[in-house]
Amino acid sequence: MSYEFCNLPGMEERNFTDLKEELERRGVKLVAVSKTKTVDNIFEIYWQGQRAFGENRAQELADKQPHLPADINWHMIGHLQTNKVKYIAPFVAMIESVDSEKLLRTISKEAVKNNRIIDILLQFKIAEEETKFGLDFQEAEEMLDNDEIVHLPGIRFRGVMGMASFVDDQDQVRREFRQLKSIFDRLKEQYFRGTSTFDIVSMGMSGDYEVALEEGSTMVRLGSIIFGARN
Ligand SMILES: *Cc1c(COP(=O)(O)O)cnc(C)c1O
Repeated sequence: MSYEFCNLPGMEERNFTDLKEELERRGVKLVAVSKTKTVDNIFEIYWQGQRAFGENRAQELADKQPHLPADINWHMIGHLQTNKVKYIAPFVAMIESVDSEKLLRTISKEAVKNNRIIDILLQFKIAEEETKFGLDFQEAEEMLDNDEIVHLPGIRFRGVMGMASFVDDQDQVRREFRQLKSIFDRLKEQYFRGTSTFDIVSMGMSGDYEVALEEGSTMVRLGSIIFGARN
């Protein structure tokens, strides 16, 4: 099943303020995933104090951004083709879905062109089920063993992102999140030990964020639990 259309049975919308306060108390950053939602829908959450929003398509993000306040931190969370980077590079705060060296180099080039620093997360394939996107640990090592990559201009490596399998088996979901946390720890040790800003483990969606928090998530990406089910 595609992650884009998952409406979890029995999952209820939560009162936004309660959710926000709970996450703040636990020191976890919230990205409100607004894909398919309107500018008005986003304003509703913005006025309740939310500033980080996530979109999974570059075009949709570039279309919405000019209609919304400039102090929103936009996160790109979906697969990103290199030829689309230029549309979001002027304003995007973080790209969470970096899964190749080619994409890294393109983001670096576009960031420099716009005189900006763009935060990035490396996306890892942690789901046991077949998923298309994401690095495995060995690929990340091969990339980061090149010191030039670690020091590309215009880019700040902030951490890792991953999606667990869309299954009922909570043990499997937990295993997958645990794997991502362990990848984060190893990367930090091997490549970013002196870097205080390599500090983000982005994992947890509406259906599995509680498990993700127990396994060390520092950032959750929540859509339907905030905005209601997507069509
Ligand atoms: C859609 C999406 C989410 C949020 O999904 P919900 O189940 O609605 O919370 C999180 N991460 C990514 C990458 C997504 O595409």
